[in-house]
Amino acid sequence: MNRVYNFSAGPACLPLDVLKEAQEEMLDYRGHGMSVMEMSHRSPMFQNIIDEAEADLRDLMGIPDNYKVMFLQGGATAQFAAIPLNLYQNGAADYVVTGTWSKKAFAEAKKFTDAKCIATSEDKTYSYVPDLSDLPIRDNADYVYICQNETIHGTTIWNLPNTKGKELVADVSSCFLSMPIDVSKFGVVYGGVQKNIGPAGMAIVIVREDLIRDTLPKPTPVILDWKAFSDAGSMYNTPPCYTIYMCGKTFKWLKNLGGLEGIYEINKNKAGLFYDYLDNSKMFKGAVVKEDRSLMNIPFVIGDKDLEAQFIAESKAAGFDNLKGHRSVGGMRASIYNAMPVQGVKDLIAFMKDFEEKNISQLN
Ligand SMILES: *Cc1c(COP(=O)(O)O)cnc(C)c1O
Repeated sequence: MNRVYNFSAGPACLPLDVLKEAQEEMLDYRGHGMSVMEMSHRSPMFQNIIDEAEADLRDLMGIPDNYKVMFLQGGATAQFAAIPLNLYQNGAADYVVTGTWSKKAFAEAKKFTDAKCIATSEDKTYSYVPDLSDLPIRDNADYVYICQNETIHGTTIWNLPNTKGKELVADVSSCFLSMPIDVSKFGVVYGGVQKNIGPAGMAIVIVREDLIRDTLPKPTPVILDWKAFSDAGSMYNTPPCYTIYMCGKTFKWLKNLGGLEGIYEINKNKAGLFYDYLDNSKMFKGAVVKEDRSLMNIPFVIGDKDLEAQFIAESKAAGFDNLKGHRSVGGMRASIYNAMPVQGVKDLIAFMKDFEEKNISQLN
């Protein structure tokens, strides 16, 4: 076995212990004589798996009892449409656009509601988070939307916006379970799981009960209807069973690390090492203003296309995979989610120091 350090933005590395446990249970899940992939979602065995996953997630995040938790197919992108449809009251919604993912959510929402961009950092290629303390929120806005961690641009909204009494909806796909969160501040918290929790293809959607409504705008497909799925315990149709099972294992792994407080300490330390190096390097530069930096996704540049290509090729050959930046922004990006060991970041820094020493003379 030769595992690389995988810095992919998603699907991304998973905890080795989680993968090993799944491997052990692959052919015969706890004496049931079948894999979880082969199990009826209506069986007591699977009901147990989904119930335990939900209970562990509630425990980890401190989700209040008046919030529903749903495991839904279609990833985060399906929710870009589900949100404006399920929250439709006045038919208006205000969006904060801080990068590619909030921009996509905003574009999708426009199909279903009068969506308006009320703040953006597009003027500086999304390298910062605008001031969100006094936004021009409309009186008739059904909700205010943010993407808390922009995976491609590497920014985090550390101070939640003042929504002036409106519901706050947050896409937390790429910072899910990376730090403590006060769920009661949100109407909806959701995210795809393939960044920080499990295999691709599913979103976890946490919604305050009173926002789950009986009547939705007329052509809403049932696959996007929160009420249908919440009433059916996420099983209106066949759920992504294996993904739920894997996420459940990651929840237990996190609980063993001291929950979200525990992993947050680890993440601050891990990202801190990397940012310290970037701040002192004469070759590599971080792409985001200091106070808005993400602990999960770290874009960086050399500013010389040839050297960047050389760095990406040499780092890959040395066992540091997927450091190429997103095709829309170029440069490099290290995604260092919960499952990336501190040693992976230390080794990468050592590799970068060495690369810098050997190649600095090529920079003028
Ligand atoms: C990856 C990502 C998405 C899209 O997730 P899918 O599961 O591919 O739909 C949405 N938002 C953020 C912040 C992401 O990182």
